[in-house]
Amino acid sequence: MTRAAGPAAETAPRDLPALSGMSGDAIAGLVAEAGGKPFQARQLEHWVFAHGAADWDACRNLPRALREALAARTTLRSSTVAAVDVARDGTTKLLVRLADGESIETVVIPDGDRLTLCVSTQVGCPVACVFCASGLDGVRRNLRAAEIVEQILHARTILGSKGDATPARLTNLVVMGLGEPMLNLDALLPALERIGDPDGIGLGARRITVSTSGLPERMRRFAQTPHAYSLAVSLHAGVDALRRRLVPTARATVAEIVAAARAYFARKGREVTFEIVLLAGVNDRAQDASSLISALRGFPSTVNLIPWNPVDRIEGLRRPSEARVDEFAERLRRGGLNVTVRRQRGAEKSAACGQLRLRHASAATD
Ligand code: SAH
Ligand code: SF4
Repeated sequence: MTRAAGPAAETAPRDLPALSGMSGDAIAGLVAEAGGKPFQARQLEHWVFAHGAADWDACRNLPRALREALAARTTLRSSTVAAVDVARDGTTKLLVRLADGESIETVVIPDGDRLTLCVSTQVGCPVACVFCASGLDGVRRNLRAAEIVEQILHARTILGSKGDATPARLTNLVVMGLGEPMLNLDALLPALERIGDPDGIGLGARRITVSTSGLPERMRRFAQTPHAYSLAVSLHAGVDALRRRLVPTARATVAEIVAAARAYFARKGREVTFEIVLLAGVNDRAQDASSLISALRGFPSTVNLIPWNPVDRIEGLRRPSEARVDEFAERLRRGGLNVTVRRQRGAEKSAACGQLRLRHASAATD
């Protein structure tokens, strides 16, 4: 079910910087410039990040003159929610419209006590994995820190709006939406700092997983942050020839990627997850299990098998049967690997990330 978002869907002014992407120091500077006091900067931060205030009138204890002076210098949010799509299992996708007219997806996944949010980091993706909707039309641009943080603010507002003014309590964040996070670390790292602030959104490193298609240099830079984020590496195959067929732009070898993941584990002490998107007859054969076992032998990590979600514009690939997935998982386990299997989520037309955006793009050009 897709519905258009309500009256909040007006476009923000393009030229003002958005407060949602600023550090505490930057906000303090802005409030001082607007004639406010340091404690008012903290109040403003609290309104925006803890309460999720989306307009200036919501920041009730700030004097009107200060709100007006601030509104002339900054916007609270630069993006808006253009559509909300709720699947039968409760998975909720937001189509977020950016100030320049581009759009991205944000997905909320309920699972028992957990409420996980999946955010995008780029408009499209340059990596172009053959099975993925996000890379079909290449990459348009990197997201800004504000645009990454706002995905959380929007999701909290949408989920919390069922007769209750308090924003929904998200428990986990996965950076697994559109784009390759390691190609946008300059915006992602400050965004994650903002998201982790315990007085604001409050999702710390322990609750955050960043997924990468495996760029060893960038993974090393990511390891330099002072935080121990969880790392997921989309490996898909244990041998280079097959991996290059699935991730045609990849330059690093499987051995180099696994070495970078090991270095991350050694430095952070957080177990790395290897994701394998399973495609029938392509990378789910006995020999594929053997090569993964060899590539990961002796590395205390987890393999997460993800049966492929079909994508409208991608032909010639098939999702393996459940029995086939279980058989593959068993082979890996017999080879000494820890294995989890991701069961179907959002089992409708736009289940694979990137599909809602594709559908809206084609509707706009029909
Ligand atoms: N670019 C990063 C993060 C975004 S993709 C990366 O590739 O890791 C997040 C995960 O979704 C990756 O493991 C990716 O392989 C997987 N994925 C992409 N398209 C999919 C599809 N159609 N079905 C199942 N998984 C998919
Ligand atoms: Fe990009 Fe990840 Fe999709 Fe590959 S799977 S095209 S890296 S978003």
